[in-house]
Amino acid sequence: MRVFAGQLLFVITICAFVYSCAHNPYAKTNKKYKKQSKQLAKSLRPLPNQLLLDSAIMPVYAVGTTNFDLRKPNFVIIHHTAQNSCEQTLKTFTLERTKVSAHYVICKDGTIHHMLNDYLRAWQAGISKWGNFTDINSSSIGIELDNNGSEPFPETQITSLVKLLDTLKRNYSIPTANFIGHADVAPGRKNDPSAFFPWQSLAQRGFGLWYDTTAVVVPEYFNAPQALRIIGYNVKDTLAAIHSFKIHFVPQDTLAKRTLTADDKKILFDLSRRYQ
Ligand SMILES: [Zn+2]
Repeated sequence: MRVFAGQLLFVITICAFVYSCAHNPYAKTNKKYKKQSKQLAKSLRPLPNQLLLDSAIMPVYAVGTTNFDLRKPNFVIIHHTAQNSCEQTLKTFTLERTKVSAHYVICKDGTIHHMLNDYLRAWQAGISKWGNFTDINSSSIGIELDNNGSEPFPETQITSLVKLLDTLKRNYSIPTANFIGHADVAPGRKNDPSAFFPWQSLAQRGFGLWYDTTAVVVPEYFNAPQALRIIGYNVKDTLAAIHSFKIHFVPQDTLAKRTLTADDKKILFDLSRRYQ
């Protein structure tokens, strides 16, 4: 009788496993996620060890402080996926060989997929710089919007994004100016989110800064690369920085992508004062 109960339990377990796999295509990768996060959590548990200094040169003693919490994200980086469907992106971010991920993926119908705990480091920004911050992945949350790069973002998708941004801003006290795009932190390498992205209306809701050029007079001494640098752009390649700036702040000027008109300079001057 006991043998029978054991067999029955085994059969039930197998059935449950097969059922969950059939109904959740990500059951396998969810399991991998749990295993990986468990390993990371385990690495946090021991008292501080003496990895950094050679104890023969300088002895180091482990004395655990009682006052600490987790490091928290301070930037939000917005992307478009440049893929053809949400499903395609979920697949890309659950294949180990792609080496790319994001914390959130938002589909066109407004569905939000949370793919990584906000406290963990997603592989979304790549080689990037904003102001003097490098390794943006370590300090940011990455949000991917399902969009192929040459189409508008549906209202349903933006509504979900705004709700998510609102929660993130509140939970982590992220400064208004720190909601930026992938193109902003990687000029010359990335151009997302595209000029279709509604940065102006997002700024009106408290996510990112915007400008007001009414009565703005650009001074004679104005230095455009310096102004771009003040905002945060990496100006190592000035033309690439101008391009990123224009995708974000002058999306309507689709022709003169790498040049600054008199109006652009007004925008840039006004923004540089707001970011200061
Ligand atoms: Zn991107």
